[in-house]
Order: sequence, then structure tokens, then C-alpha cells
Amino acid sequence: MNTKNELLRALRTIDHRGYPAYKSLKGSYDFGDYVLHIVHVQGDPFASPSELAVTMKARDARWPASACGRYETRVALQDMILRRFSSRLREVSGKAGGSGKSGSMNASCPGQEILDRSACQLGTEGDVTLRFYAGFPAAGRTVLAGELEKMLFRFLPGIVADTACADAWEAEHVRDVLNLAEDQAFLRGELERLSLCAFVADGAVLPRESGISQRPLKNALPFRSPEEDRITLKLPHHGIISGMAVRRGITLIIGGGYHGKSTLLKALERGVYNHIAGDGREYVVTDETAVKIRAEDGRCVSGDDISLFINRLPNHKDTTAFFTENASGSTSQAASVVEAMECGSRTLLMDEDTCATNFMVRDALMQKIVSEEEEPITPFSERMRALYEEAGISTVLVAGSSGAFFSRADTIIQMDRYEPKDVTERVRRIVPTEKKEGVSDFPREETGRGLGCTFRPDQSRRFPRPGADFQEQRGRVKHKNLGTEGFVIGHGETDLRLVEQLADREQSECLARTFLLLAKGEMNGRKSVAELVNDWEETFRKEGFGMYGEHGQLSGDMAKPRKEELAEAISRCRGLLWK
Ligand code: ADP
Ligand code: MG
Repeated sequence: MNTKNELLRALRTIDHRGYPAYKSLKGSYDFGDYVLHIVHVQGDPFASPSELAVTMKARDARWPASACGRYETRVALQDMILRRFSSRLREVSGKAGGSGKSGSMNASCPGQEILDRSACQLGTEGDVTLRFYAGFPAAGRTVLAGELEKMLFRFLPGIVADTACADAWEAEHVRDVLNLAEDQAFLRGELERLSLCAFVADGAVLPRESGISQRPLKNALPFRSPEEDRITLKLPHHGIISGMAVRRGITLIIGGGYHGKSTLLKALERGVYNHIAGDGREYVVTDETAVKIRAEDGRCVSGDDISLFINRLPNHKDTTAFFTENASGSTSQAASVVEAMECGSRTLLMDEDTCATNFMVRDALMQKIVSEEEEPITPFSERMRALYEEAGISTVLVAGSSGAFFSRADTIIQMDRYEPKDVTERVRRIVPTEKKEGVSDFPREETGRGLGCTFRPDQSRRFPRPGADFQEQRGRVKHKNLGTEGFVIGHGETDLRLVEQLADREQSECLARTFLLLAKGEMNGRKSVAELVNDWEETFRKEGFGMYGEHGQLSGDMAKPRKEELAEAISRCRGLLWK
């Protein structure tokens, strides 16, 4: 390894030379408390900024070993460090001058969710890695060494010392962050123990500032659980907390328009992630396998067994292995349900605002006119009860306009001017529970062979392998991140606009890179989608972002998605071939 003085000397010798001279700086430099890695140098001042990293040994960073040893608290610490690192870089960005992107300094900038990000990684022993970007300064197209010297020798050392070292932080702040992480982890454990789909704390703030901002709405009415559904828990740090238990089974959210139904469901969708202090949803947690289901006309469907919902299509298409490049509302939604089941989801979240009506219900009058034999769709309302009882899959459904779900729901919550009321008893007096007929309408394993439905992961019969988009051009496969809209690999776009639990553009980056990685090996037509995503999760747990390459290849713009998002991306990628 080189010393920082060697970097300084190298810098001074390339001053005023042509811009490509910067390339010679690539390497690692010892700055005493930390090592600076110049990982990738941009080709010209207008190209994407250069990639850098800082690594600090555990004994210099001194983060508590116990917090680093546990995934949940480690991720919370990383997130805390990154937020400050990123905002401190922003303060000095552009303070060194030149043309193009000269002098820019930035790192990943987290939103409301606490995600595992490649931009800041703590090792299990407590060593710190920070990855960031810097625009190497130029005058025209010549090196401005003095300006880069300012960035790397004047600005950066203080910022690293103030963020990567535990001693620079107020102990109280660190403790709050760790306590919240432990409380959230505890709460998630409670969901399992108490058989809940979700918990929404009293006092939580659910609505967001606007359609384009995930910050909490100011002056919102805080959440207050209905008496009937309120449970009280004791968190390890926060202490006693009360809130609404969303129990396993079928939960309906009803109510008039604009009364806060979708807002509650959205909070549940995002409850699969932890939120930062001040967000309002700190203690809103949802089963981590929950998947938002919606209609998505136009999506592709590749080999899904949707026969649970759809049979006898007019063109005689096989619905036990259904393929289309252009699904209808109902077939797209049926596909999304079975795909969620395929990868082991235990909770489905749906909002009638974004559902295909004919997939959800069919009323009596329509049944009289269009006979059973003429209608390919068995609506979700007729399957959801059995989905729960036979396959253990719960549904939380916003349904403000149809009473068809009443007789099959376990709990009915009415949103009334943003306040939830439990109206289950009242509804029961009007609409009794549908009596069980002894025989389930859900095709069990024995009886269901004819329908051949894929409701267990080990029954996944979809085996993808990479198509032409994944062919290397000059030694590599190009990809482009489109943010939460998806990504492009080769010439093929994977559209994730309607995958609503994809929370962050860096998750898309991670998905695209996961595709590239899987395409080189495991995605070979022999592993099912369920196996692929479960194995990926397993590898990530062991290796973290290390699975995407060593320093030289690893960039600071990835955030971990859930395996559910990976499965959703695989199912929506048009560049794959299916057996
Ligand atoms: P619905 O789905 O019942 O039609 P929404 O959930 O879309 O209603 O909510 C309607 C509006 O009310 C949204 O603008 C939302 O931000 C706002 N809202 C929701 N909950 C609250 C609350 N607790 N306090 C204040 N405003 C809220
Ligand atoms: Mg709504």
C-alpha cells in the first residue's frame, strides 16, 4: 500500500497534464486512521464521477462489538453513519472548482427506510467501509491537482473522522438508534409469536407529505386503534406500547372515499421495512413476506400456473403454464398472486383502487347472465378464504365499494375520518359468516392435481435462464438503473413501476446487478424462481454485498431489496427464457 504522501507527490507531478493522467492515481493510500481507495477514475470531467472508498479498522472506528455482531443493529448503525457522511459531503461538494462535474462529492442519500446499503458497510467485527463519488477537478481537460488535493486532504479527513469513528458521535444519539433497531426487531418477532400480519402503533403518523414525498404529513391525525383490536406490548427499550393488531386471516378495510383506507394500506406495504426516528411509522411493522398485489395490464407472464383463478380461456390457452407478453388486468393480477405464493409470501395486500374488478368479484346478477361455463375467472373473493385456510396466506384488502367480501372476512375495519373502527360485529348482524360446507374450494395437493396449482415454493415449476440481452458485448453486459421504475439490461427493460414495495432506486441497482450475477451461473434453467431467490437471500446473509465483487468492482449505489422484489423482477424481465 502507498502512503498519503505518495499520493500527494503523484498528484503534484500530474498537475496540468491531460485529464487521463488522473488514471495513474488508482490505488490504495494509507491516511493513518483510514485507507483511501481510488477505485475507479472517470475518463473525462463530464463523465460519471470517480468512485472512491474509505476503510477504517475496527480498532480505530470503535463501534460496540455487540451492535456490529447483529444484522439489525449493524444496518441501523450503517444507516446512521451514512446519513451524516452523505450530508457532510454535500456541504463541501462543489467547494473545489473546475469544469464539468469538478469538485462534486457525494454518497448515497437514504430516504425514510433503513436499508442495508453498499455505501456504508460495517463488518461483523466493526470495521467500516464508506463508498462515495468525487468529480476529479479539471480546467478544460487538464488536471487541477491542487483542487483534488483540497478535496482529499482538506475536506475528507475531517468528514471521515466525524462519521466513521464512534467517538465522534453523541453517545445518546447512537443509543437511541440502536434501541429503536432492537425494538423494531423485537416487534417483528412479536408478529410471528402472536400470529399477526401487522402491528400499527397508537400515535403512528401514516399519511405522507405528498405523492412525491415520503416524509410524514404535518398536522396529521395520529393513528388510534379500535378497542377491539388493541394489543399492548412491552418493547425492550421503549417500554409499553399499544396499537392495532392485524391478525392472520382476512382483514377488510372499508369506509367512505377519502377516509384514509389507502393510506393505512400503504403504511402496511412499507411496514416490511424499518423506518427512521421521526418518520411516524417507527412502530408500524408488517410481516416481512407481505406482497402488494395489483392489476398490471401489459406485463409479461412466464409460465405461471394461474388455474387457481383462470381456466378455459377463449383462445384455449393453457392456464397451468400461462405465457403472455401482454397480460390483461385479471390475468396479470392472478399471476402476481401465484408468484407471491410461489416464493413463500404469507400476506397479500390489495387495494381495490388498483385491482381488476373482474378478478376480485362477480355479482349475482352477472352470474345469471354470463353462465359459470362462459366465465374463465374464479374471482379472488371466492378463493381468499381457502387461500388462508389451506395455504396459510392472509389477505389485507381495501374494499370500499363491494360487500362481496363481508361474509368471508375475519375482521372488518372501517376507516372513518382517518380513524379506524372495528365494525366486524355490526357487519355480522347484517351479513353472517359464510358457513363452511366441509369441502374446500381450494385445490389441495391430492385433489388439486387437475388444477395443478403452484402454491408451495417447492412446487415452483418455472425455470428461467438468460436470453440474448445478457450476452456480453466487449467482455461485459451493460445495465442502466431507471430508479424505482426498473432497469435495463442489454436492450431489454424490466418495468418495475408497479412493483410498489420497491422503495429505493438503489434497490433497483442491486436487482440489476443480481441479474447479471445470476445470469453467469445459477440462473441456468435448472433452478426454479423460488430456489433462485431463496439461495440469493441465503448468500446475501453470509456474504453481504461482497457477493457482488471485491473493492475494485463494488460500487456505493446498491441497497438490498427483499427476495420478494427479486422474484417480482425476475417475473417481469422480458429478457429471460423459460423452460
Ligand atoms: P381513501 O383510500 O379512503 O379514499 P386515502 O387514504 O387516499 O383515502 O386518504 C385521503 C387523503 O387523506 C390523503 O390525501 C391522505 O394523505 C389524507 N390522510 C390520510 N390519513 C390521514 C390522517 N390520519 N390525517 C390527516 N390526513 C390523512
Ligand atoms: Mg383509496
